[in-house]
Amino acid sequence: EKVIFNGSITERSQLNIDIEDRGYQFGDGVYEVIRVYNRSLFTGEEHLQRLIDSAESIQIKIPYTIAEMKNLLLKLIEENNLFLGIIYLQITRGVSQRTHLFPSADVEPSFVAYTRELQSPTEAMEKGVTAITVEDIRWLRCDIKSLNLLPNLLAKQKASEAGCFEALQHRNGIVTEGSSSNVSIVVDGKIKTHPATNLILNGITRQVIVDICLKNGLEIIEEEFSVDEMLQADEIFLSGTTTEIMPIIEIDKQKIEKGEPGPVTKKLQALFNEEIKKQCGF
Ligand code: PMP
Repeated sequence: EKVIFNGSITERSQLNIDIEDRGYQFGDGVYEVIRVYNRSLFTGEEHLQRLIDSAESIQIKIPYTIAEMKNLLLKLIEENNLFLGIIYLQITRGVSQRTHLFPSADVEPSFVAYTRELQSPTEAMEKGVTAITVEDIRWLRCDIKSLNLLPNLLAKQKASEAGCFEALQHRNGIVTEGSSSNVSIVVDGKIKTHPATNLILNGITRQVIVDICLKNGLEIIEEEFSVDEMLQADEIFLSGTTTEIMPIIEIDKQKIEKGEPGPVTKKLQALFNEEIKKQCGF
């Protein structure tokens, strides 16, 4: 299995990650997950741009252009013969003696990427999934795709222990997002999703959905909604790179409408599949 390490492709088994890598010690870095359909990157440039933006927000300068990263990723897909899956990429502030202060400017960031085979979650997308609500205890820069995911992990674990797929986070009664997905509701045919502020990650899938809606005459508004509003909604769905578009049919043991995926969500799933076909020919 091949991986990318600092600008070149090497064997995973040859990789040495230092114990004083800032990512390992502090979570001092950012990451991305990109879907690969039919050996092609789906919304690759958008993810790479977000990686650059996230890195810049924490004062890490990525020493590669989008084109250079894209070429490396395509080479990695070929080397690993990846047909359907994901690529994980992360960049950290590099290796230096442990101190909270940033290392000196000559320390290079550490960049890694690897692939994993992964099917689309087709059964869950058809049947829908269940969720719990949890308080959003994260920091105030959730727009940065930071490696620091501890609150997200705690939320996801809690969901799993309740037999659910996802934890929907809320701050002062306002729904922000899932532990690893964005969340939208449908009321009277209109889709509502949290605005792209510092309180959520502006998901690439979320952005594709906004685009699809505008192109297909579906009404979508980027506006806050409360937990109560969500529980009363006609439909609720998650969106994310690995989650794709996933109907939620039950929250905190309470059925959403009839407790089955609704027509707007299904329509969006179909339009999303068309978008994948358009970009990746799959
Ligand atoms: N919010 C959070 C907290 C996430 O971790 C993710 C992605 N995994 C998303 C939203 C969805 O973003 P994207 O559509 O870019 O995968």
